Amino acid sequence: NAMLRILFSRLGKPHIGSPNAFSFNVASIKASGAITVERGAGTKTEKQTYTRTGGMCVRCEGRGTVSDIDLTQLYDDTKSIAEGAFTIPGWKSDSWWTVRTYAESGFLDPDKPIRKYTKKEMQDFLYREPTKVKVEGVNLTFEGLIPKIQKSFLSKDKEAMQPHIRAFVERAVTFTTCPECEGTRLSEGARSSKIKKISIADACAMQISDLADWVRELDEPS
Ligand SMILES: [Zn+2]
Repeated sequence: NAMLRILFSRLGKPHIGSPNAFSFNVASIKASGAITVERGAGTKTEKQTYTRTGGMCVRCEGRGTVSDIDLTQLYDDTKSIAEGAFTIPGWKSDSWWTVRTYAESGFLDPDKPIRKYTKKEMQDFLYREPTKVKVEGVNLTFEGLIPKIQKSFLSKDKEAMQPHIRAFVERAVTFTTCPECEGTRLSEGARSSKIKKISIADACAMQISDLADWVRELDEPS
């Protein structure tokens, strides 16, 4: 909460920054570039760097959980894409946006069973960054299966999903506590700064009576 963030930004050791540095919904950013300064005789270009330290856990982006996708729910790896390997609801073999983009991208062999893919094919198939491809003259975007599933199924509100889609998501995706921040949502920096051996994550997890005792101790001269 806001009071704790102010407290830790003032008293936490090591000192890591403003209250934002203890906030799980503020990401750290760094920008650099040229700025133009207008003064007196003319303009002058200077290089400037801007940084902001946020408290957001980088791994889970402040969610406190990470998602794990069960690949066996997405496709049957004994089949090739041409044989209908995908088992994702709505992914029909004639769909441009899904199956055909994979089959005709050129990044993998659509007639090869998925389990026979080379390392490179598997890497592209599961993780490739969005890449423009042309399929029969149509511009499409190829993207690895995992980020594609995360974008098309996980960014939506579960309650608003059709029942068979929700059932698929529940089978295919498990959410586990983020191993980096252990569910506290906070960056390593935010967790490292302590007051009397207590970090902001510890303080948030304390019983209110214990927290009150700890705050009272801070007032006493040590
Ligand atoms: Zn995390």
